[in-house]
Amino acid sequence: MIIKKNLLSEGKTKKIYATNNPLEILIHHKDNITALNGLKKNVLQDKGVLNNEITTLIFQFLNSCGVKTHFIRKINNREQLCYKVDMIPLEFVVRNIVAGSMSKRLGVKEGTYLYNPIFEIFYKNDKLKDPLINDHHAVFLKIISYEELNTIYDMTSKINCFIKKYFSDKNIILVDFKIEFGKNHKKEILLSDEISPDTCRLWDKETMKKMDKDSFRIGLQEKIFDIYMEVLKRLNVS
Ligand code: UDP
Repeated sequence: MIIKKNLLSEGKTKKIYATNNPLEILIHHKDNITALNGLKKNVLQDKGVLNNEITTLIFQFLNSCGVKTHFIRKINNREQLCYKVDMIPLEFVVRNIVAGSMSKRLGVKEGTYLYNPIFEIFYKNDKLKDPLINDHHAVFLKIISYEELNTIYDMTSKINCFIKKYFSDKNIILVDFKIEFGKNHKKEILLSDEISPDTCRLWDKETMKKMDKDSFRIGLQEKIFDIYMEVLKRLNVS
C-alpha cells in the first residue's frame, strides 16, 4: 500500500510528496495556471484533474514505446506515483513549427514549418528568468555532461517522433513542447515532470485553433477547461 508522507516541494502547478517507499514519490496536480514566467496566473477549477489525466495517457504511451520515464501509475484523479529523481535544472524545448519565443526572437512568422525539428535548452533559474543557453553553457555550469546531453537528445528526438504521431492520429498538430529529465538512484536518465496542454503547443489539424495554454496567455481563461477537455476526449478515442 502507498502511504502519502511529507510534502517535499511545491511548484507553480504541482506538489511533490514523499511516500513510504524511498524510491517513489507522489505528484499532485493543482488547479493553478501560470504564464509569462509566473507574471500571469489564475486558478481554474479542475484543470489539475484534466492535466493529471492527459499527462498520464501520454506517459503510459511513452512507457509502452520503450522510453524510460519516471511514471509508474495514476493513483487518483489528481495524483500519480512516480520514481523519485533528481531533476536536471534544464528545460528541453522541441519545435516542429515556429511559434512563441522563437518567433519573437528570430522574427520568423508563427506557423512556419520546420523541416528538421529544432532543439533548445533553457536554464531553469527564476532569478535569471530561465535564459536560453546552449550545450557548452550547460556543461560549463556543471549541470550536465556532454555524454548525458547526447542521451537526452537521442531520447528527445524519439519522444518527438512518438508523440507527434500520437497527436496527429487525434487530429492535433504538435507545434512545440517542453520536457524535463531527472536521474534516478542508479543515475539513469528518465523523462520526468509532465506533458500536457500546459507544456505543449497543440493546434487543431482542421481549423488550426489553439488547444493549449496559449489560450490562457491571450486572455481566454474561461475557455481553458473546455479546451483541455477537448484534448482529453480526443486522446481517449482509440
Ligand atoms: N514551455 C513550458 N514552460 C515554460 C516555457 C515554455 O512548458 O516555462 C513550453 C511552451 O508551452 C511551449 C514550448 O515550451 O509549448 C516553447 O515555449 P516558448 O519558448 O515559445 O516560450 P513561451 O512562448 O511559452 O514563453
